[in-house]
Amino acid sequence: MSADGRIYLSPPWTDAAERRAVEAAFESKYIAPCGPMVDEFERRLGKLSGLSAAAVSSGTAALDLLMDEFNVGPGTFVFAPSLTFIATVGPAVRRGATPVFIDADPATGTISIPLLEEALARRREASPSAPLVVVAADLYGQCSDYDALEDVCSRHIATLVVDAAEAVGATYKGRPAGAAGVASVYSFNGNKIITTSGGGAVLSRDPEIAARARWRAQQSRENVVWYEHREVGHNYRMSNLLAALGIAQLEKLPEIIRRKRATFERWKQFLDGCATPFPCSQDVESTRWLSVFLFESETARDAMSARLAAVNAESRPAWKPLHLQPVFAGAEMHGGEVCEDFFRRGLCLPCGAGLGESDWSRLSLL
Ligand SMILES: *Cc1c(COP(=O)(O)O)cnc(C)c1O
Repeated sequence: MSADGRIYLSPPWTDAAERRAVEAAFESKYIAPCGPMVDEFERRLGKLSGLSAAAVSSGTAALDLLMDEFNVGPGTFVFAPSLTFIATVGPAVRRGATPVFIDADPATGTISIPLLEEALARRREASPSAPLVVVAADLYGQCSDYDALEDVCSRHIATLVVDAAEAVGATYKGRPAGAAGVASVYSFNGNKIITTSGGGAVLSRDPEIAARARWRAQQSRENVVWYEHREVGHNYRMSNLLAALGIAQLEKLPEIIRRKRATFERWKQFLDGCATPFPCSQDVESTRWLSVFLFESETARDAMSARLAAVNAESRPAWKPLHLQPVFAGAEMHGGEVCEDFFRRGLCLPCGAGLGESDWSRLSLL
């Protein structure tokens, strides 16, 4: 429960450790978007993911930096699941790329591989030399089917980027979230599994990609004493204060995941017979960042949401598919029934890592 008595969907879980970490960084006088905490946070992200990491100001900024890396612009086709947050495709679309949306797989909830394959093949045939980029989104704490994505992208000569913003701490066949394709991103926004208030990271097996993202995040400044530029960059670097917060949160990640999974199991029991969990592949160990369930009908879903509202608890429908968003009216879409159904029947339930017994006693009144 928060100070105002409301049970929020997934609020940050912090204590004195985070406060001390930020205070120590403050005392150190590295109050800037660089410093020892940023370097240390990147090292720890590297350990978690097995990849090279560049810490930046948001997950969206991380995706924007990767769109620079892969020269995304007019003439580029960007393939993405329709069932995701707008930031998965936002940076590409703002550069003039053409989005191509793909339905969800009914068994895994993530991008449908057969439909992606069909869309890539059709585009390759129509535009043999067009650059194709796939941005796969890892939803609600689970990973996409990395093996299948890497296979289909290599056969159709498409660049694979993984938007693992929601999957920090998850694994796919033992591989850490984001450890697929050419590069990936994490988000540490306030509502994500760990937070730096706002923040993100670019990750890649290729240390050069992470290094270039770091460089572009600092105005693409050349390494000389005066300000020298061969390219126009961004101001996207993470603050040293926020990196300190991120380090403290990373220490808690295993405990947060344990709690998230326990909350998911509790909802599963509670909803037995009236809702089923949002699908998840057997190859994936989900963090259960969000507890998402599919109700029998839209009416049943809305009734549950109203009951939660009546006890002052927040809930939210599953992602509204991007192909249904007014801004993407007329965009190319492959399939659509599956993600539309998830949107109609899906509900994200309160699942903050700090959810306590007093909250549960209120939720049990439902
Ligand atoms: C949160 C999120 C992002 C964006 O991250 P920010 O840090 O909020 O910019 C991108 N993609 C997905 C799927 C997300 O859930």
